[in-house]
Amino acid sequence: MTLFDSPDFANHEGVHACFDEKSGLRTIIAVHSTARGPAAGGCRMWPYASADAALTDALRLSRAMSYKNAMADIPLGGGKAVIIGDARRDKTPALFEAFGRAVDSLGGRYWTAEDVGVSPADLAHASRATKYVAGLEGHAAASGDPSPVTAEGVFRGVRLCVERAYDRDLTGVTVAIQGVGHVGAWLADKLHAAGARLIITDVNEAALAQVAARTGARIVAPDAIFDVEAEVFAPCALGGAINVHTLGRLKGRVIAGAANNQLATPEIGALLFEQGRLYAPDYVINGGGIINVAAEILGIESGTAFDGDWVASKLDRLTATLGEVLDRSLAEKRPSHEVADEMAKARIAEAVALRAAA
Ligand code: NAD
Repeated sequence: MTLFDSPDFANHEGVHACFDEKSGLRTIIAVHSTARGPAAGGCRMWPYASADAALTDALRLSRAMSYKNAMADIPLGGGKAVIIGDARRDKTPALFEAFGRAVDSLGGRYWTAEDVGVSPADLAHASRATKYVAGLEGHAAASGDPSPVTAEGVFRGVRLCVERAYDRDLTGVTVAIQGVGHVGAWLADKLHAAGARLIITDVNEAALAQVAARTGARIVAPDAIFDVEAEVFAPCALGGAINVHTLGRLKGRVIAGAANNQLATPEIGALLFEQGRLYAPDYVINGGGIINVAAEILGIESGTAFDGDWVASKLDRLTATLGEVLDRSLAEKRPSHEVADEMAKARIAEAVALRAAA
């Protein structure tokens, strides 16, 4: 497969394969779009079976970042880096320093951050060779853990969906949360404070016990979460939670949570729309985290401190955007994930036109 033949090539502006003989680094940095600003997206380290598989992932993930950043209305485009390797075995400081040099060679067209297999400590090694790194501690623009901001966006999204689907507030509404990790635990606290009843699951017993003690949540086994009586299902664990095996088991009309890639396939999104369910597109409702990261990037670029007010205003706008997606989905009788994709593409096309006219 060559780049331009790939079914996942979506007019990416640049795809950069970098090799460093000394450290063994093999990385692909995909810049999907810089029309709205420098491309931003994390770096994933994964033992890809082939270079084709790594390329496919970089192409898909970078385009997804363009869409997410456009819907969050932040002045960033979409990019993603993948490092071919086993995060448990192949990490060295030299490898990440070489990765930093690869990022730096793009001259600021791509900003990197954490993703699967890559930690802040790894990024610290990369930052010896480039300033285009978000997610480091110890400077005025540092944004810290994005999870509370992500959870706030998801909380508002759940509230909005319940208003639309059930015409009521959260008091007495039952929410089933799959995964009470960083985001899920914050979400549970916020929903509990708003008067919702909680049913939770996780594979981490300690996390479950802590959240249940704080919120009075009922704990169920991981597979049982799909069968409980709840108005809302909030996937906050892994991708693919909504699939042909689980969709028919859900009792409620609302699906709204933090996880990335909640729909196993786009067809599932069409199916749940036909069933009259309300789905908050994952990359819209979970955009709080990237808004937080964007504040850091803007701060580093302009030499200013982290601006919490800017984050708050973008979070307000994100909730309004989600409302627009849901309204259009109902008015146009189309699945919400399709509407979101179309809005994201339109926002990117608008930026491309503005850039061309400048
Ligand atoms: P996390 O790893 O802290 O939490 C995930 C939780 O899911 C863990 O407690 C884990 O034990 C649990 N889990 C794993 N497999 C499970 C299973 N089969 N059944 C039930 N629980 C299971 O991750 P997080 O940072 O809270 O992120 C949660 C999701 O939200 C991920 O999909 C992530 O990509 C997405 N997301 C997170 C952020 C953020 O700011 N952290 C931003 C955007 C999207």
